[in-house]
Amino acid sequence: MADIIQLLPDHVANQIAAGEVVQRPASVVKELLENAIDAGADSIKLIIKDAGKTLVQVIDNGKGMSTTDARLSFERHATSKIRSAEDLFQLHTKGFRGEALASIAAIAHVELKTKQPNDDVGNTIVIEGSKITAQDVVVTPQGTSVSVKNLFFNIPARRNFLKSDNVELRHIIDEFHRVSLAHPSIGFVLYNNGSEAFNVPISNYRQRIVNIFGTKTNEKLVPVEEETEVLKISGFVGKPEFAKKTRGEQYFFVNDRFIKSAYLNHAIASAYDGLLKNGTHASYFLNLTVDPQTIDINIHPTKTEIKFDDEHTLYAILRSAVKHSLGQFNIAPVLDFDR
Ligand code: ADP
Ligand code: MG
Repeated sequence: MADIIQLLPDHVANQIAAGEVVQRPASVVKELLENAIDAGADSIKLIIKDAGKTLVQVIDNGKGMSTTDARLSFERHATSKIRSAEDLFQLHTKGFRGEALASIAAIAHVELKTKQPNDDVGNTIVIEGSKITAQDVVVTPQGTSVSVKNLFFNIPARRNFLKSDNVELRHIIDEFHRVSLAHPSIGFVLYNNGSEAFNVPISNYRQRIVNIFGTKTNEKLVPVEEETEVLKISGFVGKPEFAKKTRGEQYFFVNDRFIKSAYLNHAIASAYDGLLKNGTHASYFLNLTVDPQTIDINIHPTKTEIKFDDEHTLYAILRSAVKHSLGQFNIAPVLDFDR
């Protein structure tokens, strides 16, 4: 019998990986912002055209890449962030899969410009559908700029599946909120179709929340601080009287990474027991710090869900810390339940 198994060419493998990593323009935004943060930037610009369908560009002032690294960055499983499987449990970076740039370059037109601090000139690479079409030296500021144009140009089914500009922009702004809330020590600017939509300077955490959600938010915040052997909590929860019918502003960050957790969300809800009107949800902005050994981030390509070794303990500590903070701020139960 003839052998029938073949290794897929790289560009096909990259396109398959892209299916998981890149769902929509907001996925590109997330990956590029995270790379800029991992590069140690303290100033990051995000430029969007047509809800990211025409352009997503991220410009950072981070450490840049060498000529060889600039080319390697588009290879699949090429990363500077981990060296061994053990490193997965010592992560201090957002990235580690070495898949994002390879995936994005498989399904878009990508232009990279990058320069390291001590070099006089930088490098530029243009890559389209995994094919490098141009590579040159370039005069460019320190740091890295990645432009992603015409997302899904070679996968019409995917491109047609994108939602309206309003919806796609909403996803992008959600992503921008998440990343910029996790990193108040970095300044972020967002330009949407040529005009400045957000400009959040380096600040403390409270100020970052206020800069994003408006000055009125300030009076709504109750600080939460707790430190135990397994969990450090720092951040804010919303006063119960400001709870809303929608679940909008609910943010957990674990070791500076936005995550979704229905279980931990329940811990917060139960801390408000008796304080909220029926059908309303409190806001929260909580940073949880845990030993990286006690979590597994590698359970999902987009890394928004993670696995904790001991969820039950975290639940209990979180609930009690939030309850304590709400109590300290003399918040009386709501008496006029309008059911
Ligand atoms: P990962 O972030 O998982 O390592 P990526 O495909 O996102 O994988 O990036 C590949 C590599 O390219 C990174 O490990 C990093 O070394 C380099 N890189 C990507 N973006 C930047 C950037 N903005 N500044 C400096 N280096 C970068
Ligand atoms: Mg990355």
